[in-house]
Parts: sequence; C-alpha cells; structure tokens
Amino acid sequence: MSLDDFERHPLLFGPSPVHPLDRLSQHLGGARVWAKREDCNSGLAFGGNKTRKLEYFVPDALRQGADTLVTIGGVQSNHTRQVAAVAAKVGLKARLVQESWVDWPDPVNDKVGNILLSRIMGAHVELVDAGFGIGFKDSWNQALEEVRAAGGTPYAIPAGASDHPLGGLGFANWAREVQVQEQELGVFFDTIVVCTVTGSTQAGMIAGFAGQDRPRRILGIDASARAAETRAQVEKIARGTAELIGLGRDLRDEEITVLEGWAGDRYGIPVASTLDAIRLTGGLEGVILDPVYEGKSMAALIDLVRDGDIPKDSNVLYAHLGGQPALNAYSGLFR
Ligand code: PLP
Repeated sequence: MSLDDFERHPLLFGPSPVHPLDRLSQHLGGARVWAKREDCNSGLAFGGNKTRKLEYFVPDALRQGADTLVTIGGVQSNHTRQVAAVAAKVGLKARLVQESWVDWPDPVNDKVGNILLSRIMGAHVELVDAGFGIGFKDSWNQALEEVRAAGGTPYAIPAGASDHPLGGLGFANWAREVQVQEQELGVFFDTIVVCTVTGSTQAGMIAGFAGQDRPRRILGIDASARAAETRAQVEKIARGTAELIGLGRDLRDEEITVLEGWAGDRYGIPVASTLDAIRLTGGLEGVILDPVYEGKSMAALIDLVRDGDIPKDSNVLYAHLGGQPALNAYSGLFR
C-alpha cells in the first residue's frame, strides 16, 4: 500500500502556501525562517490542520453510510469547528462534545470564536463538564450511542482526528507537498517546527518525510504540558502510519522528537513566552498566532533559532496549523 491507495476528498484550496518570514528572521539573527500556512489552507470556516486530516476521513465515512460526524474537544476546540465545517460541506450532520479542557475564566469563552462558528454551521453542540485528555472519553462514547439510539449512523472521529487508523495520512501528504514546493522554490527545509498535542500532525509528517531521500529534523513542540503522553501518541501514530503507507522499514527512535519547555503548566493557558511570540510575529510579519498552540510552538522556534540549536545556515519551516478563532476568548490578555 502507498499513500496514493487511500481515497482523498479534496477540502483545501490546493497546496497550502509557503513563504519566508524575513523580518522575523532578521530580528532573530540566525536561520532563515519560513512558514507553511494551514491557517489559510481552505475556504471552510478558516481551515486549519484538521481540515487536511479530514480529507482522508470523509471517503471512509461516506463508504460506511454515516449520516453524522461525532467528535470531541475543548470548548474552544479548533478541531470540532473544522469537523462542523466539513460536515456542512459534504452534507452530513455534526455532533460535537465540547469538554471544559481549559479552566479559562473569560465570560465569553463558550460563546465566541470556534464554538460560535460551529453553532453558525448548524452543528449539535453539547457542553460537558470534564477535564483535558487526549484519550477516548465517556462523553464521546455516549454521544455515539445517542446518535445510534435515534436511528442515525455515526462516524466516530477521536480528539484531533488523531488516534484513528487514517489520522496520520493528511500530514504524510503534507510532507509530499513540501517536497514539491521545495523544488519550485529551490530550497531545502532541513528543520520543521510543529506544535503537537493529539499527535497525528507531527506523526504524519514523520512517516511522510521518512520515505524521502534526504533526512531532516521534525521538532514537535509539546503544547499539552504532558509531553510523555504526547510523545507516546506521536510514536504510536507515526509507526502505524509508516506501516499503512508502506514505508518498508521501522522508524528509528531518534526520528520521533517531542520537545517540552514552552507549554507552561497547563494545556490552554499561555505563558509569558507565548504572548511574546504572538506579539513579535504579529508585529514583524502581520501573521497571527493563537495562545493555545501556535504561540507556544513559535516561542520554541524563537529560542531554538536565537540560541543556535537550529544552525544559522538552516532553512527552518514553521508549520502554522491555524487556531486563530480562539483568540476571541483571550482578548483580556491583549488590553
Ligand atoms: N495547532 C492548532 C491550531 C491545533 O488546533 C492543534 C490541535 O490540537 C494543534 C496545533 C496540534 O495538532 P495535533 O493535535 O495534531 O497534535
């Protein structure tokens, strides 16, 4: 089997854009920094990394005769919003379990941003009082049961569209896209920086790049504040995806790198370096990052480039995975 053997339902505009961040690079005085933009990869509700993963889930759901996509995330989940958009686009219903993953006191947290967009798109949104966790949750199983009991046919999508046999395919395809874009641009990205939480974004990249001739570093930046759990999930999905797309060899341990130190103590709560990274990238590049995910991975990139861990002669590709709608629930941080 190879990646081409899996049916893909196109949901993106095409390859997501790649461009240099020259003012940020100059400011840091080290490697040249580029971005590949999943935040503007699609016309569906502001896109993001899950939209790309879902290109491989949709044919499976349709083949199974599903009428409802059922998934789970936090109240400000980008993932559930993208599932709602994809369901609308392909004519299915969406049932979203929104757990209280982040103890965030903003009074409009459950009214604006991602959850607002999901409501606009007609999804069934259910608020559940349960904490952060990337594993399989009771509330999700219950939602699946309720859809069945009402005579529907659910298609189960786990948190982040990750712990699922097809979860890594979207970003294995991203790796292929990068290789083509490198040829067009005449550049080689020796280092990739990617935010990681439920794991299949980084895992798909690892499996996809492992099949290419030239090795490169894929640095996952943990934003869950539970790096060991995240690494275990990245490893499991990377190995599963590598086998699924016929890599033909086992992944080596050193191909799976999850770095910690930028997440703070808790998922969903930004720390000083997150806010600095958001302001710096906004102020120098006009590129907007969120306080839950991309602000944390950019904070890591800034430190790694500044300190020379990513060498000066590198071309580093920052995977911008989306997430800006959540900013609406964090306005108090930027007064
Ligand atoms: N960045 C954003 C904006 C996200 O919504 C997510 C989702 O969890 C991630 C990064 C992390 O991706 P993954 O869950 O596939 O590790």
